[in-house]
Amino acid sequence: MIEESIWGLLCVLAALVGYQQFRMYQLRQAAKHRDELFEIVTENAADMIALVDVKGRRLYNSPAYKKILGYSPAELSETSAFEQIHPDDRFKVLEAAREARSTGLGKRLEYRIRHRDGTWRVLESVASTIRNEKGEVAKLVIVNRDITQRKQAEEQLEHNTFHDTLTGLSNRRLFLDRLQHLFLRSQRNPDDQFAVMFVDIDHFKDLNETMGNAVGDAVIIEIGRRLSACVRDTDMTARPVGGSRSEEAVSRFGGDEFGVLLDAVTDPSDAMRVAQRIQTEVTKPFLVKIREVRASASVGIALSTKGHERAEDLLHDASVAVRRAKGLGGGRCEVFDEAMHVSAMRRLRLETELKTAIEKRQFRVHYQPVMSLENKRLLGFEALLRWQHPAHGLISPMTFLEVAEDTGLLVSIGHWLISEACQQLLAWQMKDAMEPVRVAVNLSSRQLSDSGLISDLRLVLQETGVDPSWLQLELSESVAMSDARLSSGVFSQLRQLGTGIILDRFGKGRSSFSQLRYLPIDALKIDRSLVSEMLTSRSACDIVELIITLAHKLNLKAIAEGIETGTQLAILRDFECDFGQGYLFSRPLDPEAAQQFMRQQRVRGNHAQVP
Ligand code: C2E
Ligand code: CA
Repeated sequence: MIEESIWGLLCVLAALVGYQQFRMYQLRQAAKHRDELFEIVTENAADMIALVDVKGRRLYNSPAYKKILGYSPAELSETSAFEQIHPDDRFKVLEAAREARSTGLGKRLEYRIRHRDGTWRVLESVASTIRNEKGEVAKLVIVNRDITQRKQAEEQLEHNTFHDTLTGLSNRRLFLDRLQHLFLRSQRNPDDQFAVMFVDIDHFKDLNETMGNAVGDAVIIEIGRRLSACVRDTDMTARPVGGSRSEEAVSRFGGDEFGVLLDAVTDPSDAMRVAQRIQTEVTKPFLVKIREVRASASVGIALSTKGHERAEDLLHDASVAVRRAKGLGGGRCEVFDEAMHVSAMRRLRLETELKTAIEKRQFRVHYQPVMSLENKRLLGFEALLRWQHPAHGLISPMTFLEVAEDTGLLVSIGHWLISEACQQLLAWQMKDAMEPVRVAVNLSSRQLSDSGLISDLRLVLQETGVDPSWLQLELSESVAMSDARLSSGVFSQLRQLGTGIILDRFGKGRSSFSQLRYLPIDALKIDRSLVSEMLTSRSACDIVELIITLAHKLNLKAIAEGIETGTQLAILRDFECDFGQGYLFSRPLDPEAAQQFMRQQRVRGNHAQVP
């Protein structure tokens, strides 16, 4: 019995030992399997995997180290990992390693490490810990990913956000950032004043058009370089913002507009000296692909000493000053002053009022009769804009056209006017069953470059049912010739649409006669000033005669504007001018008076047949 029990016990013991050995074998196998897996993963991983001991000694480096950093395993074992790290990043790497050892938790870390060729790579690393049997951290597994390219892309993106791609200069955004910084500083310390300079290249649009965009770009790049050099070389009181980094003081806002920040300026003359230097540099010829190109710059200056409320107001004032410089003929420098402030405020008020006028439908159209000079019959009307101001009464467009044009408001006003004139034309005909008359509408420069002009016109003509040949569009000679290619394109589209085209204020602009030949137009409208000077100036008289002859030679009609006296009319008839308008016939009339005028014409049998 006892023997049986002992025998049984031995069997159990043997089974236990066997199981233990089996279990050990299983664990060994699992460890082997894990090592193999670790080897497969690390040997083939794109990331660099390192195993280091608690003292930072390298125990293992995966082959990716060779691919990414160029070091062979032998070279790695000879060099100190620590020394390869960028000196500025060493501390944070040490700190992260220390933290991982003490807490057992590794955190994500970015640092720079030297490639074998001496360049720097940016690594993103995560450490995890391996503990010994006592639960202490014994080793660190560090997985490093090469993020150099991503970092470069991010930096490029960041650079692009704040820099102009063509010139590499800072852009408007960065400029405003710096301006804000200087502004706040000047508010904290009244001794720290500065100046804002707005530089605008005169007639750059013309240069771009005549020479092409590639030449225009090359000139802009060179101007940017010259501006930076001017500011850098400045040995005057004014200092570029950012010390020696003068390129930071010069920004390109886009197009032909640049901004310059000048530190330590309390007197306008300091900034003006820099402006003069800039202007001298810009007027020096540019050599682009063996072509000599010339340019000039207008400069507007605003000083921080004027006690602005916001940083942007300084830039606004500098832009007002540059506009004044340009308005006075360009190639000048203007410092923002009180008078400009008053006129800028007036402009601002006018802008707000114009917006209200659009909302409250305060605009009106008046119609000035256009007569055939041969038989004094009514040919049609020129539609002229008026503003029925609640306080100031009827206002002529001359007082608000510039602001309306600059702010783009004239595009919507112009669109409204065309639609209004077409509807009026129909209303007249319906009321009195009159013969159709023509109506001429003035186009602004902005309308000419408005891509929606033709489709808007087509829509108005469709909606009103007005025959396109009753509508004429007037564009001043100077606007048309300032961009002859654009005008020619738009005119061709208008021609297709079937409307008439008149070159307005002719004789005051600078037309090239050869260009005129290719413009699809119907008539030249002689400028009012020439007509009024005819009686006193022989040359004005000769020019008027010449324009009429030119029109006829080009198979166009001639229209005289501003006829006030019978003598003027007699001369124009003598020159065989086709049509005319002016106070002699009638002032511009409101719609009702214009209709009355038509009725009288009909009674007299003076209603012209539309040719
Ligand atoms: P414009 O196209 O040369 O128009 C003729 C201007 O001469 C009108 O001034 C008219 O009232 C004035 N006028 C006509 N006959 C005589 C005359 O015998 N003697 C004198 N001294 N003046 C005469 P208004 O209406 O003040 O318009 C001025 C300018 O405003 C126009 O010059 C035109 O360029 C522009 N304009 C008028 N309406 C519009 C419009 O709807 N859109 C655009 N873009 N411009 C417009
Ligand atoms: Ca006109």
